[in-house]
Amino acid sequence: MSTAFSYACKDCEGMETCPGKVVATTKDEVWKLMELHAVVAHGEKPNSWDAETRNYLGTLIKSV
Ligand SMILES: [Zn+2]
Repeated sequence: MSTAFSYACKDCEGMETCPGKVVATTKDEVWKLMELHAVVAHGEKPNSWDAETRNYLGTLIKSV
């Protein structure tokens, strides 16, 4: 059974050069850290992410 989830920003389309990566115990925590990373590193507004974007990002969260 996996004990952690990770998200690597470079897996996201258009973010191939970003070294950002987050690891956390729960998917909820990964989402929070992803959103924070997006704001700080990319100036994005997670509040404006639509369902399609969230579905896509969700597929990039891997269990480790
Ligand atoms: Zn990034």
